Amino acid sequence: MGTSRTPRTPRTLRTRRTGTALAVLLLTALAATSCGRSGESPEHDLADARNPRTPADVLLDSRTAAAPASVRAYRSTEARALAYDAWRQSRAHARRTAAARTWGLARAPLLAPLPPAAKPRLTTPRGFETTGGGAGLPPVITRVPTDEKVIFLTIDDGKDKDPELIRMMRELGVPYSAFLSDFLASEDYPYFHEMQDAGVALNNHTLTHPNLRLMPYEAQRREICGQQERLRREFGTAPRLFRPPFGNYNGDSLRAAASCGVEVVPLWEQEVFPDRWAYRRASRSFQPGDIVLTHFRGRADWKGTMPDVVRQVLRKADAEGFAVARLEDYV
Ligand SMILES: [Zn+2]
Repeated sequence: MGTSRTPRTPRTLRTRRTGTALAVLLLTALAATSCGRSGESPEHDLADARNPRTPADVLLDSRTAAAPASVRAYRSTEARALAYDAWRQSRAHARRTAAARTWGLARAPLLAPLPPAAKPRLTTPRGFETTGGGAGLPPVITRVPTDEKVIFLTIDDGKDKDPELIRMMRELGVPYSAFLSDFLASEDYPYFHEMQDAGVALNNHTLTHPNLRLMPYEAQRREICGQQERLRREFGTAPRLFRPPFGNYNGDSLRAAASCGVEVVPLWEQEVFPDRWAYRRASRSFQPGDIVLTHFRGRADWKGTMPDVVRQVLRKADAEGFAVARLEDYV
């Protein structure tokens, strides 16, 4: 049931909140600061006198126009580029720290490491197989095999459409994945367009959220493939990920999903509510690669808002030293 994976180039370069990254940042920032105080070193002046300004210098000047004088004062292109990167990183960190406080967190969430160059091979764990399963069916997973201290946040259904959720996640730079059921999400697809614009993948959770196990193959296919088509028309691409409602599925569900392009069926390891957690394992700690589930719900449905629920996830992740990563980067 494994799926072979091809290497991909990471789309974005992210930096971990690690000792190494901080050391580089501090060193370059210190270099920029001392430069601002004392001006150019004699070495820089000599090098500049010998080397006239190049197009790269001019381009860098335009990029660094918003940077403080201490950064722009470097005459060497390389030094100025390094100081500029350090300044941008420290500014981004300061923004995320400020955002964290705004959203009721003690500090900025850990940043996820670079996505893996090759996606891990996925297999359906014991207890999740279906009878009559066969080659070519999408693997059913509750966690992703990885050694990185990352978890994945997934949000289901699409009932509550709180703009604060999109704003919070954007300001904190936290990735998440949505699994949409058409009968709820279609009440306001523009809300999910905004989510898509923020880089969130919109995945399949059927048209009407039925218990698939009670349905014959053709009816299951209408539910799953109908939502593939609905999401493709609405958002431009059909998802690769499908989650069966209530986590209920059988061999027909997987065969139907495979027939319309589904590659992976992510369930979940832990589920979070405003006032409690539910666990599949005896251990309550996160393990690398755990998939965490919650739902698009608000005070009309339970005792909290979407930001309240996300805050719980981020506090637990921070306490246990985990970053939230993007599921679609790994599966
Ligand atoms: Zn659901």
